[in-house]
Formats: sequence, structure tokens, C-alpha cells
Amino acid sequence: MAEKIIMMAEQRGAAPVVPAVLETPTGLLSDRLARPLHDLRISVTDRCNFRCVYCMPKAVFNNDYQYLPHTALLSFEEITRIAQLFIAHGVEKIRLTGGEPLLRKNIEKLIAMLAELKTASGKPLDLTLTTNASLLARKAQSLKDAGLRRVTVSLDALDNTVFQRMNDVDFAVDDVLKGIDVANQVGLGPIKINMVVKGGMNDQEIVPMARHFRGSPYILRFIEYMDVGASNGWKMDEVIPSAEVIRRISAEMPLEPVAANYTGETAARWRYADGSGEVGVISSVSQAFCADCTRARLSTEGKLYTCLFATSGHDLRALLREGRSDAEISTALAHLWRARGDRYSELRTSQTEVLRRGANKVEMSYIGG
Ligand code: SAM
Ligand code: SF4
Ligand code: SF4
Repeated sequence: MAEKIIMMAEQRGAAPVVPAVLETPTGLLSDRLARPLHDLRISVTDRCNFRCVYCMPKAVFNNDYQYLPHTALLSFEEITRIAQLFIAHGVEKIRLTGGEPLLRKNIEKLIAMLAELKTASGKPLDLTLTTNASLLARKAQSLKDAGLRRVTVSLDALDNTVFQRMNDVDFAVDDVLKGIDVANQVGLGPIKINMVVKGGMNDQEIVPMARHFRGSPYILRFIEYMDVGASNGWKMDEVIPSAEVIRRISAEMPLEPVAANYTGETAARWRYADGSGEVGVISSVSQAFCADCTRARLSTEGKLYTCLFATSGHDLRALLREGRSDAEISTALAHLWRARGDRYSELRTSQTEVLRRGANKVEMSYIGG
């Protein structure tokens, strides 16, 4: 166990090579599969006050677990500088995540710095954050004031016993619901609610969750339980395919499919036939969407991951801290994205159980969801 803990707290990856010929970004970068660089997810902390069984199980994330020291974290200035370089390459949407992003001290300050940035075409950045909502009621107003546009909230059940079994720290459903309402009141909507469905744990909550959020201002999305990281003991037979989620809801409240808002939208949309709103399903396991994946991820300590299932990242912090210029880092980024060929989820089904559960995959709490 000790070996595993050290491995996860120090996810080393090499610093990218800085090419000799520097380029000016055009905002039109594509990878090997012709996918543009459109979204950046930034993990601002590897810590969390929940111990969700599918993400930070207590058996691993216990008192012995070594989180990153503060000096290892990217500073707000470093994050903003990197964000700017990504934006010049075409990023229009930034999502702050973690761990629990609201645990990062003075997160509002970072939000204010990022909110100043404009996309390559001069539009305001789509700046959003994913949270477990434990601190949302308290912080919603200051997040909004700092320039955050929207939040996505994770909630895995309406029944307290089931929810507490999922978060494993006795956090109550009502406090999450209160956070959602306060965030909506201060203008952090439209709010999406993400429910990870783990078969045998919370799948009995699919229909009650749909019932509860139907007709509300909130868009509920069901996420297939994924084999991220190496600590959650993932098994394929605990995945409830989205088709089954839709079937169960439709049996009581008929649903029909809706066209996607834009290419690369991760959630497939379904609306209630009686016009009372819609739900989304994110089928990362049963129907991979790698072909449209335009997402880069920046870990808490500044490693760039071009796929959620990557086994190592590219150490951008090393470039920052060795005094590289914007042009040098930007050119290195362009080369990394052009070389990207990741499509793990598309290949997953053809891999053996051993490969799928490989011990080197990075944890969701480190890389950000
Ligand atoms: N702590 C915040 C939260 O829970 O919203 C942000 C970070 S969390 C890692 C981001 C998202 O990843 C959450 O919606 C969470 O449910 C999802 N997630 C974590 N582990 C997952 C897994 N194994 N499969 C599917 N989704 C997962
Ligand atoms: Fe924390 Fe979010 Fe992971 Fe749950 S899913 S343990 S709230 S980081
Ligand atoms: Fe994107 Fe990797 Fe997920 Fe495929 S497996 S959708 S490439 S993050």
C-alpha cells in the first residue's frame, strides 16, 4: 500500500521538449484525429472533504495518504499564465475542478484573474466549476461576484442513507440541495447536477432523482461509473449503461432524444415527452465519445494530461519554473496537442481486465473530473 501511495502523490512526468523553432498560436490547433483544443479542466487541489467510494475511497485516501505540499501546487499566477497560453490555442471553456475546488484557499481570487481573460476571438471565457456543494451555500455569492459564470454540482442520491454511503463522510442531501438553490438564486445557472451511477450502490435512486429534478431549473445528468485511476476497484458489471437509465426513467416518465447543442457535447440529451424538461446521459463507458474529445486537463501540480486515462502527464510547471518564455511554452503545447492520439474509452472494450485496471492510471481527484 505504501508504494502505491507514494506513486499517486508524485505523479512525475517529463517536462515537454521545447522545439527550437517557435510558433505564433493561431487559435486553430488540431490533434492527430483532427480534434481541436477547446476545453481546459484545471484541478486546483488534490484534497477533498468527501470520500466518494468511486473516487477517493477511504482505504486509500486515509491519514497516511500524502497530499501534495503547497509548494507543489501551481500558484494562481502560474495557472492564469498557462490558461492564457491555452486560450491563444483556441480554448474557450475553462472548468475548475479537483479534489474539491472550493477547498482551495482564496479560490475567488483565481476566478477573478481568469474571468478577465478573453477567448482568441475576443469573447468572454466560459468559466465554470464542478463542486460537491458542501461549501456552495456559503460561497455562491462571492464566486459569482468574482466572475464565475456557472456551476455543476455532483449529487449521487436523494435518499440520505444512500448518499452518505456514496460520500462516506455523512454529508447530508439537504445541504447539497440548499447549495444548489443558493447558487441558482445568485445567478450561477443554468446548473447541471451530475449523478454517478454505481450499480448495486445508488442505481435505485435513478428514478427518484429524475422525478425530483423534473420541471426544475436544473438539468440532471447521469454519468456511467468509470475506471478512472487505480484505487476504486472498478468492475464492468457495476456500470449501469445509459440505455438502461433511460429505459428505467421512460417506464414512468417517457423520454425522447434531443439533438446535441454542439459537437463534442459529452452528454446525450433526452427530453420528457410532456415538455417538463430534460435529462442528460454521459456514456463514457458504453458509448465512448473520444472522436469528439476536445479536452485537456491540467493537474494540481501543473502536469498536462491529454486524456482522463493517461498514465503520465507533461510537466508544464517545470517549464514555468525554469523561466521559459510564453512563446516557448506555447510552442511546446502546440506540439503536444498535435501529437495527441488518445482514445482510451474507444479502446477500453477491447482491453483485458488487467490492462483496464492498470495501476498507473492517475486518480480523478488529482487530474480533475
Ligand atoms: N469534488 C468535485 C465534485 O465532486 O463535483 C469536483 C471533482 S470530481 C473528481 C468531478 C466529477 O467526477 C464528479 O462529478 C464526480 O462524480 C466524477 N467522478 C469521480 N470519479 C468518477 C468515476 N469513477 N466515474 C465517473 N465519474 C466520476
Ligand atoms: Fe471529492 Fe468530488 Fe471525488 Fe467525491 S467525486 S471524492 S466530492 S473529488
Ligand atoms: Fe477524451 Fe480520453 Fe475520455 Fe476518450 S477516454 S473521451 S480521449 S478523455
